[in-house]
Amino acid sequence: LPKKFHGTEKNVWVEFSKLAVDHQALNLGQGFPDFQPPQFVLDALKNTVTNGNYQMNQYTRSYGHPRLVQALSKVYSPLMNRTIDPMSEILISVGAYGSLFSSLNGIISPGDEVIIIEPFFDCYDPMVKVAGGQSVFVPIRPTKAGVEGPTSSVDWKIDESELESKFNQKTKAIIINTPNNPLGKVFSREELEMISRLCIKYDVICISDEVYEWLVFGESKHIKIATLPGMWERTLTIGSAGKTFSATGWKLGWTIGPANLLLGAQCMHQNCNYNCPTILQEAVALAFEHELPKIDTPECYFKQLPLEIIPKRDMLISLFNEMGMWPVIPDGGYFLMADISGIDVDLSGENPEEARDVKFVKWMTKNKKLTAIPPSVFYSKEHQSVGENYVRFCFIKEDTTLNKAVDILRKWK
Ligand code: PMP
Ligand code: GLN
Repeated sequence: LPKKFHGTEKNVWVEFSKLAVDHQALNLGQGFPDFQPPQFVLDALKNTVTNGNYQMNQYTRSYGHPRLVQALSKVYSPLMNRTIDPMSEILISVGAYGSLFSSLNGIISPGDEVIIIEPFFDCYDPMVKVAGGQSVFVPIRPTKAGVEGPTSSVDWKIDESELESKFNQKTKAIIINTPNNPLGKVFSREELEMISRLCIKYDVICISDEVYEWLVFGESKHIKIATLPGMWERTLTIGSAGKTFSATGWKLGWTIGPANLLLGAQCMHQNCNYNCPTILQEAVALAFEHELPKIDTPECYFKQLPLEIIPKRDMLISLFNEMGMWPVIPDGGYFLMADISGIDVDLSGENPEEARDVKFVKWMTKNKKLTAIPPSVFYSKEHQSVGENYVRFCFIKEDTTLNKAVDILRKWK
């Protein structure tokens, strides 16, 4: 195995999805809905397949199918407070994974440092490594850790001086993720302003992973860092059709940013993928076009989905409160972290080399037939101890699935 892959051999999704299948466990681990995407999304694909246009089945424009980039420009221009040029300021890739990959490879040169805010979606660090860069980690810290009772993702904060101490001459980029997976933290305007101040001061590019942008709850508001003063010209914003339309298997993602910052990503993409599936890009374009006329109304799918999943989140919150497995209440996304530090189970049969949360989830999968995700995988070795007191549960599931989880956990208690 080439050296650049050393340390990346294990993958949490590969490992825990298999574990769930092997033990026929209820899977609240990997983040995907266990229900159909909305009918208009399915119809969009059906219409694309049956419209008789042969071009739907052939190559399309490398950087993004014209109808899709045009639809994205219409959706995102008002949100970015500027007119986004569909042809030069948007790049379609294979899922947000592909967007992160092409974006990171497009800007990193060997020896560059990339600051990653923890907890982070696990692929960031391997991607930085493969691109020849070096990750530098800064944790969002739980200011109310150890509190007996539920806490909020708002209580998890970045220390400004700690963050600033990581910026230096070699820093090329910072990766942020809001709403955050796995925390459910929605970055506040003040937090984003603090990050932008540092990006501008040290001349650093911001990669903003916003795949859960539509999934914000209650009073929380998703703010795009690219809209803050001085940030458009240094930000690449990433979105995902899989998350937007509850169709994670469709694997289409996009990067939006200034043309000069996208050049490297385009080079990567045109030579590695050339284009993404035409038929899916057309269908996603139709799906956006379907929602565009009502985008500012409560009927829009982007407003309906969060309302649909709030009761699901709340179901898990009350269950974990009952169990003393104190939840960190998320303001966005579709995951919830529960504190397992007070839960006494016999983990002596598990591998002692592994973090407590990893052992806990393996034990729970085997003995309780319930799978989740151990959040320590979203941390560097150095800060793993912050994550290992928690377990992440995915709540974008049918109520019947969640009820089964409730049954399992109640009986256990
Ligand atoms: N970023 C985050 C924060 C994620 O949770 C995910 C998981 N879907 C991705 C990126 C990758 O998205 P996609 O499935 O569109 O590749
Ligand atoms: N983004 C999803 C999650 O966090 C899963 C990604 C994957 O399965 N590779 O659960």
